[in-house]
Amino acid sequence: MSITSLRDLFPFFSSEQNQSLIYFDSAATSLKLDSVIQAQNQYYQFNTANVHRSSYKAATQVTAQFEQTRCDVQTFIKANSPAEIIWTKGATDSLNLIANCLTRSDLLDNKGSEILIAASEHHSNIVPWQALCNTLGFQIKVMPVDKNGVLKLEESLQLISENTAVICIAQVSNALGNINPIKPLIERAKANKALTVIDGTQAVAHMPINVAELDCDFYVFSGHKMYGPTGIGVLYAKLGILEQLPPYQLGGEMVKTVSFSQGTSFQPSPLKFEAGTPNIGGVLGLAEAVKFIQNDINQIETVEEQLYKRLIQILTGIPQVKLWGDTDNTICLQSFTLEGVNVYDLAVMLDEHNIAVRVGHHCAMPLINALGIEGVLRVSLSCYNTVQELDFFEKALKQSISILLDPGLDSDSSPTPE
Ligand code: PMP
Repeated sequence: MSITSLRDLFPFFSSEQNQSLIYFDSAATSLKLDSVIQAQNQYYQFNTANVHRSSYKAATQVTAQFEQTRCDVQTFIKANSPAEIIWTKGATDSLNLIANCLTRSDLLDNKGSEILIAASEHHSNIVPWQALCNTLGFQIKVMPVDKNGVLKLEESLQLISENTAVICIAQVSNALGNINPIKPLIERAKANKALTVIDGTQAVAHMPINVAELDCDFYVFSGHKMYGPTGIGVLYAKLGILEQLPPYQLGGEMVKTVSFSQGTSFQPSPLKFEAGTPNIGGVLGLAEAVKFIQNDINQIETVEEQLYKRLIQILTGIPQVKLWGDTDNTICLQSFTLEGVNVYDLAVMLDEHNIAVRVGHHCAMPLINALGIEGVLRVSLSCYNTVQELDFFEKALKQSISILLDPGLDSDSSPTPE
């Protein structure tokens, strides 16, 4: 498939209002595939029925599609069984489920009382663990980063001991794009009988995932960062662990029997963790996103590598730019600050050129504080972006910087998109 036809799969670009918009904020949420939108529409317009309940044809068909998607996700991340795939609202929901259920399980009983968290984690992989620590009297230990925000592997490995109960780390940092060395951390954690929670939210759209090979205990991600719908996410966990966890929420469809006199018995996983009517449209949309990534991952990787190279060429050509993270070990995302320029002002100026970027702490306040800065400007690219967009970005960026460095300059001469 050519790059143009890849871009054609995203109806976002066909709207007039988006013709001149440059979307460089895919790490916040990606654009949606037409096939994802169509699958959701099909369900809402013509195939509406609830799942796992009624026995008429339309309902059993939707249930079959819904469960097929679970198998598709199992194949996508190379899990051993569809029972290891739990539908959630997103990565945040998945991480809350893990921390909440672990708090109420006896899985942590014979372990240490330290939760190891990388300094670069998204708040979603910090705050639920703080709650667990408050309830259980555990402590958080922070796996440190260097002055560029890259995980210090040796020091992190040293922190893992028989006192470690759980280690929590993203496969890819959402703030800086670094690919973390999760494999040696998982190995060391296993040797110390600690549980491993991997946040794959920023990884799944950019690289093949193999949870069996990683041998992590938990892996989470959100549909909306991988060309899919919002409000749908995945929790993968090893079946043996899921069997030992109590349910997360309680209600319909997660029960086997309910009786006022005898109490309630629960379904096995995955239904045990899916109380109430799930996001059926979201699951059916996600199926299309998974199909796209699985079929086109090689092309996605090739395109994104080219785009990232050009982005780095642009940024390294500007003397005031300070790049954060590790440019040799990253997804197509780059965060930077600028000497003498407030990146918040720069983001406003880029917006005037119709370039959408994100600036701030990126829900990773501990990381930004550790780096001693107030925020970074993040350019996050995806397979639907183009080199032409980057060429325009270069002009807009240089012009904005020169105005911010010398506010006396005329700002009227905007570059025009090619
Ligand atoms: N983890 C990472 C690494 C993320 O990038 C995000 C979203 N920015 C989350 C967790 C939370 O995802 P969601 O908001 O979809 O629950």
